[in-house]
This record gives sequence, structure tokens and C-alpha cells, in this order.
Amino acid sequence: MKIVFVAAEMSPFAKVGGLADVLGDLPNKIAELGHQVYVVLPRYHCVDGRKFSLKKLGEFVEVSLGQETEKLSVKSSRLSERLEVFFLEHPYFFDREGIYGTSLGDYEDNDKRFIMFSKASLELLKLLGIKPDIIHCHDWQTGLVPAFLKLDYQDKAAFQKTKSFFTIHNLAYQGNFPPDTLALSGFDWKEFSMQRMEFYGKFSFLKTGLVYSDVVTTVSETYAKEIQTEEFGCGLEGVLQRRNEDLYGILNGIDFDLWNPETDKELETPFSSSNMEAKAVNKAALQKEFHLTVDPQIPLLGIVTRLVDQKGIDLLLASLEKIHKRNLQFVLLGKGMNRYHNELMKVAQKYAGSFSFNLKFDEKLARRIYASSDIFLMPSVFEPCGLGQIISMRYGTIPLVREIGGLADTVTNYDTATGEGNGFVFLENTSEAFLSKLDEAVEAYRNKAEWNQLIHNAMNSDFSVQKTAQKYIELYKNAKRKTVLE
Ligand code: ADP
Repeated sequence: MKIVFVAAEMSPFAKVGGLADVLGDLPNKIAELGHQVYVVLPRYHCVDGRKFSLKKLGEFVEVSLGQETEKLSVKSSRLSERLEVFFLEHPYFFDREGIYGTSLGDYEDNDKRFIMFSKASLELLKLLGIKPDIIHCHDWQTGLVPAFLKLDYQDKAAFQKTKSFFTIHNLAYQGNFPPDTLALSGFDWKEFSMQRMEFYGKFSFLKTGLVYSDVVTTVSETYAKEIQTEEFGCGLEGVLQRRNEDLYGILNGIDFDLWNPETDKELETPFSSSNMEAKAVNKAALQKEFHLTVDPQIPLLGIVTRLVDQKGIDLLLASLEKIHKRNLQFVLLGKGMNRYHNELMKVAQKYAGSFSFNLKFDEKLARRIYASSDIFLMPSVFEPCGLGQIISMRYGTIPLVREIGGLADTVTNYDTATGEGNGFVFLENTSEAFLSKLDEAVEAYRNKAEWNQLIHNAMNSDFSVQKTAQKYIELYKNAKRKTVLE
């Protein structure tokens, strides 16, 4: 099959969160399994032409944006025989410091940026004569692609057999814009109805993707069910219920070669499940790096996260004093909302010596935290899949998570009686539930045999992208088969 991914992030080119990880791993794995894969991305400022050996293509893509015509140039990077990434260049819209915005907020013209990008992606495929079996779009930034495909491109030769997939990585980010944005897109006003693109008076890119794609997927089975309820549906539960027949939950996975404690160059020293002394060396190094008491007996808690409401930072802040009293150490790496920056900075001053707050995006430090901590915390309010808990398990760091979304599908509570389970799981979004689970985890930590069993279970949990890729390929094939039968 020929499969085209259209997305706003992809590791290692441009990363804000887990979306980039998925795009970094999944297309590559699908290509390895024998399919021809292309990815289309915007050329952001951070995509270094030299570092990534980008090649200029001769083609220019022209698309309308309201009354204007925008011209984009194209660069390409061939990652393997069957995987090529195209970068659409438009310096005014994309050669900027951030990806979606800066710490001051989102860019005000994100509607224009991603309308243009979505249209240009299809134009590019047409221009290059690529006839995709599947166009796989991700999150609101590419939500208009399935609609452009159905309404404007379906009868073009290149796309007659194309099926569109739309994956929800996070339903809370919807790309809702004022109605006038519709005029920029060129869609007919009759599309601006509750059944189609309108969402409470706004033009919703995410809803458009949900309505117009042939298949909708999301990133875990539990989240696929949750988003059809009022509690997690962000107002779109009705639309999702209507699409129930075409809605699938496929768990994300990580590339076990890229996240590997035996080969990870960022670690103080590599380790494997049969060499846990080396993990202890990493822990001591991290304690030293952040001026914490170097003591193997003190449990070290780690967090790597975007600092936004979703991630349970409020719960964490409400519990920090009590955590401090338990004589635990804490290393937090994160960036996001200013109010969390301020609060966490105050806490870091107050508990200097046991709490280290690192306000930045730093992939190398993230790896050291995954590898060196004892317990990895993800007390999220909601979590479509979550990769942090999967990465931490790979590094023998035990996740403590809420029993929701993808966290519930990947972490099972440790059972002292049977020795089964790969982490700790709590349900209620309360400080009491969180701390009581933390106490359980620390008690297990004090028992060396139990903790070793837990590490063994966590490191043997297989959430690799290989499985994810196989499931997507199956679904792509089913979608194609359906066309043949129709
Ligand atoms: P989300 O996609 O909601 O941000 P995930 O758990 O799915 O959450 O994925 C987060 C990804 O981003 C992980 O790879 C994590 O290591 C990375 N990440 C998040 N914050 C930072 C940070 N401040 N520095 C480095 N990596 C980060």
C-alpha cells in the first residue's frame, strides 16, 4: 500500500509532545513492514536543513487562502528506501520560533497556517503523482484534509481510491475558530452546520476531521470508549457516538530501539534488566546533578511532562507538602502554562535539596530522568494514551498513574500476593487516593525482592510500535476492502 501521513509534528524534526513520538516511530515501522510511506510536515524554523540533509524539489505548490494565492516550496528528506518526508515551506507562516505559538500563547493565525498546510499537502501529492491508498491525518491541525479530499479532490485521478484516516491524539485540542475562517478555507457555507463543521458557533477543524474521514481512530481502547461519554467527550461525544461503527482505539507504542537502556547514549551508564546495579549508578548521578542527597535508599520520583491542566499538576501541587514529609526526592522536567511555572518555582525554592524543577524542553534530560528515577508519576486528569509511562517501564522505572485512558490500558496494579502487575494505579482524582497509592509504592520499594519483581514485570511489558503498526495496517486493509465491496 501507499500511505501518506499528514501531521504537524514528527520526531526528530519538530516535537511538542507525544504526537511527534508517534509520527517519528509509526511511519517508519509501517515502511519496514513493506509499505511505501510518505509524511508531509510544515517546514518550521527548527527543521535544520543541513542537519537533516534536506533536498530541494523543483516543484512549487500553489493554493488559495481566501482571496490570496499562497506559493509554497518543497524540501524532502528520505529516511529509508520506503520512507520519505516532505516539508512544505512558507517562510511567513512557518519560519517562526515556536510550532503552535510561544509562551505568550498560540499564534493568532493558526487557522490560516493549517488551512494552507492542509490544502497544500493534497496539492503536493497531486503534483508528484502520488496516488495514496490511505491518507492518515492527525489531530485538529490536519482535520480539514479529509474534508478537502471528499469535497474538492475525490474525483481527481490521484485520489479516486484513497481512504482517509483521522487519529485523535487529544480531543481537548480542537482548533475551533470564528465562522469567518470558513471563507479562508473556501468551503461552501452549507458546510457550516451542526451536522458538519460547526461546533457551537465556531468552525471546528477537529470536528471536521471526525465527520469527513472514512475511519476515525484514537490512541487507546479505553480512550475510544471514554470520548463517547459526556465526562471525556469535550462536547463532541455525540459526533463520536454517531461514528461509533468507524471508531477504533489502537494503543500507541514506542520504538524499542530508540528507547533502549542498553544503548541510550544520554545515560551515565547503560543497563539492562539483568544489570540493575548500573541503574543505581544512573540514579546516583541524577541525585548529584540536581544537588539531592546521594542515597540509594531514598525513593526518587520523576516526572517529564507538558505543564498543562491535563497532566494532573494541580493534584501534584496539592500533594507536594505531604510528599515532602515522606522524605522522598523529586525531579520534575516540564514546560507549559505560566501559572504552573510560578507555583513550581516557589515549591522548588521551599524544598531545595529534595525537589528539583527544570523548566525547559530537554530530550536528553528526559532520558536521564526516565532511566534514573525509581517511580514515574502520571496523575493525569485524562490521558488519551500517554507515552511517559511506557518509556519509563522500558527503563525499569515503575509508573504510578491514574486508571484512565491509555494509562489504564498499559499499567496494571502490582499485586503482592501474585507478584503480577507492572506499576501502581489509582482511580479517584484526589490527593488522598494519590498519596495512599504512593505509600503503597514506597512500601514495595522498601522490599527488594518485590521491587525487583516489579522492575522485571515493567521491563517485560511489550508496548512496542511494532504492534501498533500491525494493527493500523490491518485497519488500512479493511478500509480498502470495504471500498471494493461497496
Ligand atoms: P502528551 O502527548 O500529552 O504531551 P505523552 O506522554 O503522550 O504526552 O508524550 C509526551 C512526550 O513528550 C514524551 O516523549 C515525553 O518524554 C516528551 N516530553 C514532554 N515534556 C517534555 C520536556 N519538558 N522535555 C523533554 N521531553 C518532554
